[in-house]
Amino acid sequence: MSNPSELDQRYSWHPFTQMRDWCAREPLMLVEGDGAILRDSAGNEYLDGNSSIWTNLHGHRHPKINAAIRAQLDRVAHVSYLGSANEPASILAEKLVKLFPPGTLERVFYSDDGSTAIEVALKMAAQFWQLGGQPRRSIFVSFDQAYHGDTAGAASLGGISVFHDRFAKFHFPCRRVKTVAELRELPELRNGEAAAVVIEPLIQGAAGLRLWPKGMLAELRQLCDEADTFLILDEVMTGFGRTGTMFACEQEGVIPDFIALAKGLTGGYLPLAATLTTRRVYEQFLGEYEELKTFFYGHSYTANPLGCAAALANLQIFEEEKTLDQLPPKIQLMAQRLAALEWTTRQCGFIAGIDLVKPSGEAFDWREQTGARVCLAARRHGLLTRPIRDTIVLMPPYCVTADQLHGAFDALEAAIAETLGA
Ligand SMILES: *Cc1c(COP(=O)(O)O)cnc(C)c1O
Repeated sequence: MSNPSELDQRYSWHPFTQMRDWCAREPLMLVEGDGAILRDSAGNEYLDGNSSIWTNLHGHRHPKINAAIRAQLDRVAHVSYLGSANEPASILAEKLVKLFPPGTLERVFYSDDGSTAIEVALKMAAQFWQLGGQPRRSIFVSFDQAYHGDTAGAASLGGISVFHDRFAKFHFPCRRVKTVAELRELPELRNGEAAAVVIEPLIQGAAGLRLWPKGMLAELRQLCDEADTFLILDEVMTGFGRTGTMFACEQEGVIPDFIALAKGLTGGYLPLAATLTTRRVYEQFLGEYEELKTFFYGHSYTANPLGCAAALANLQIFEEEKTLDQLPPKIQLMAQRLAALEWTTRQCGFIAGIDLVKPSGEAFDWREQTGARVCLAARRHGLLTRPIRDTIVLMPPYCVTADQLHGAFDALEAAIAETLGA
């Protein structure tokens, strides 16, 4: 019983996974990474086509991030952020704030992953209104098909029925709308009951890579201002260059009241998240201890020094390697290969989605798991990715070479042909 694959099947339980299916086949045991490539325990190599679930930016085993983590490890791996500070966290907080225009997002609250970064924003927003004498502002507004994470508060916002419906009765009060026009008419917004509006800017990830219309985010910002409610941006997927700019909100000149950052924050190396907010929000929580204005929230690993060291190295790579300047030709190449496909495709920066449908244009029966079968076939051609239903996701690390990107599209085309017939 010492074979790790057997141990996995015997003892482990995987996320978002029907374990009966999982245990029926040999698990993919990934043992090594190098740049955009991952290697399994049998020595097979794959392109990391979804950047290890949208986290990795500059590639696996990047020398600068590895060195930064090692250097921090030789000092201390973890100390508590409750009652003490640590140097990488302090330095990182300044660097994150300076990624935004002066006087906008000025405070950084650390947590562990995307879900908790959203959880923090929701609870800060709710407490802000309570402290400000507007406790009626207690309803959150999110969008149809939204995904903001799996902890209870974050999941309350979620609009993907297979994930979220089952737990609806345990959720925070939330209303969901499809468009800004619908939001404009929402009674809770007009009546001053909305604590905040939450959105994945430019593109919804888990919904199947759905693009928002151009200009929508700026319009949403204006509407939130008119209604005196907060705008919370979930840039957990879109942050750190994924859409072509450092943050998606830059593309519409929007500054939110809260921004949630996670996945790419450490370059995809360690779990760390940050919620940035404004001076206005921060100052509402200041007072005498007895007033109980304190934000009583935190986790054991908040501001973990190894994670912060990795995040600092991640940002340093953006500067030194001019990552954002290197991206446009790769985004262009992705666009060319997508245009040559016969399927409906979508692209936002270095994120691509390919919708598989029947020749008639109808969707496949979801129970056939067409997307999953195509991705399994792609694996045999050296491409690792994961579908969202029948949308194939391609979002490799930024360090991917032109040859590797061509290889990914070739693998995908072969996998689709094998699975669906030419
Ligand atoms: C992944 C994701 C989350 C949740 O982040 P976790 O780190 O998985 O908790 C939240 N929002 C968006 C947009 C995401 O893509």
